[in-house]
Amino acid sequence: MAKRHVIIGAGPAGINAMTTIRELESEESEITLVTREQAYARMVLPYFIAGEIPEGQVQTGDEAYFARLKVKTLFGRSVASVRSDRNEVVLDDGIVLPYDDLLIATGSSATSLPIQGVNLDGVTQLWTLEDARSLLAAGGGRKRKEVAFIGAGFIGFIILNAAWKAGWKVHVVEIADQVLPRMLDRPSASLVEAWLARQGVGVHTAAKVAAIVPGRGKGKKKVQLQDGSAIPADAVVLATGIRPNLKLVEGTGVRTGQGILVDDRMQTSVPNVYAAGDVAEGPDLLTGGRAVHAIQPTAVEHGKVAGANMAGRDVRYWGSLLINILDVCRLQCASFGAWGRHDDVSLVANESRPVYRKLVWSGDVLTGAIFLGPAQDIAMLNDLGMVKGLIQTRSALGPWKRYLQDNPLDIRRPYVASQAASKLLKMTITGQASSERGYRHQGLQPVAKPNPHHAAYVGTQPQ
Ligand SMILES: Cc1cc2nc3c(=O)[nH]c(=O)nc-3n(C[C@H](O)[C@H](O)[C@H](O)COP(=O)(O)OP(=O)(O)OC[C@H]3O[C@@H](n4cnc5c(N)ncnc54)[C@H](O)[C@@H]3O)c2cc1C
Repeated sequence: MAKRHVIIGAGPAGINAMTTIRELESEESEITLVTREQAYARMVLPYFIAGEIPEGQVQTGDEAYFARLKVKTLFGRSVASVRSDRNEVVLDDGIVLPYDDLLIATGSSATSLPIQGVNLDGVTQLWTLEDARSLLAAGGGRKRKEVAFIGAGFIGFIILNAAWKAGWKVHVVEIADQVLPRMLDRPSASLVEAWLARQGVGVHTAAKVAAIVPGRGKGKKKVQLQDGSAIPADAVVLATGIRPNLKLVEGTGVRTGQGILVDDRMQTSVPNVYAAGDVAEGPDLLTGGRAVHAIQPTAVEHGKVAGANMAGRDVRYWGSLLINILDVCRLQCASFGAWGRHDDVSLVANESRPVYRKLVWSGDVLTGAIFLGPAQDIAMLNDLGMVKGLIQTRSALGPWKRYLQDNPLDIRRPYVASQAASKLLKMTITGQASSERGYRHQGLQPVAKPNPHHAAYVGTQPQ
């Protein structure tokens, strides 16, 4: 009998597991993919909100695609419980799905706030496609509106940037005394705050929201702060954090910490149950411990490792790196790894542009970085990629550490000298290149609309 795989969740972790199983299995198995929503990528939602892509393009596969892969899809259906002792999952309509192995890729959910007004029309979290539709609907579609963001973290800012690009008036309220407290240190956050003020964004840090109340006029609201001031808004976005969806494994014997605990094969404490993506607490590249890194690259890598092992291979994961890269109203902000340390760092800052570069060292190895600079600056983007590569490959830089300390803007020479690029090329999850997946939604093909900078990025001839 063909092996039966059940995958819960059709986000990047579930989808990558599914394609990896099909790529690597020696005999064709049965795959059932269950998801409460549909197959789509949350990280594409900002482009939909900003009006840059139609709603259909957030989807990562249509019926024809799943049929081609011979995957049975149960979309719009929820798993109510996992019976790991009987190797079966139960859907919310009572249907039972038996499995030989199970992948839990249920992601995380946005948290709410215990304040008055969170249920008003036009107050929404922004984690799902449905939330994105609600935000667009509040205050009348895409036309100019005023939006207040509660929470100045990574996800809040991704949506804020989309709203700003759409031409909306935006405000952000943050309880900490700086924006992006889990992504930037205090000095770099100050540069971002000054930049935001210059772009017309209302920034309120060290501010606590007391309530959201109806304002004057149809659909209008006011975000009341504890200091007595109020922010007017047509829509309010709650972006105060996310939490892994662990409910399904309660009482199953699957061990949890911050997330579902997995080893370097993405296997949980129950051997035929795997977990991947935002819901999983897996190997951390830098600490050697385990961590929840709720970001897309981790979900993709986790999914591939889980899929490979479910397909019968023995694939081990080297661990995820915390990567945050963000366009904040045309200011590129990025941080990697142990960016918060300040004992052994190299620093360059220029407030007027602004530019900020912090490199964090452990001996002669880079273990963290913060970068701020103009979003369209190709040199800055190249440097960002090279620093990430140096951290990911944990390259010992020897004398190049001193060179970088003296010449912090010349990443290229240490990058070339350390051969980080060839080390990265060997770091494939499954030991082989992924096969071409083709276009997976309504036969869509890419439309080439290069912007004026395109040739400078990819051209092979001098301009
Ligand atoms: C607006 C937005 C922008 C983002 N931008 C970025 C970015 O720029 N860079 C980045 O690295 N990350 C970004 N992220 C985060 C990234 O999208 C997540 O880390 C990623 O989606 C996690 O993938 P996942 O497969 O683990 O979970 P998810 O994508 O959350 O998928 C989980 C799936 O499980 C389903 N599910 C849950 N419970 C059940 C159940 N009981 N039964 C059936 N199905 C269930 C859900 O419906 C969903 O389909 C962004 C997120 C959002 C919301």
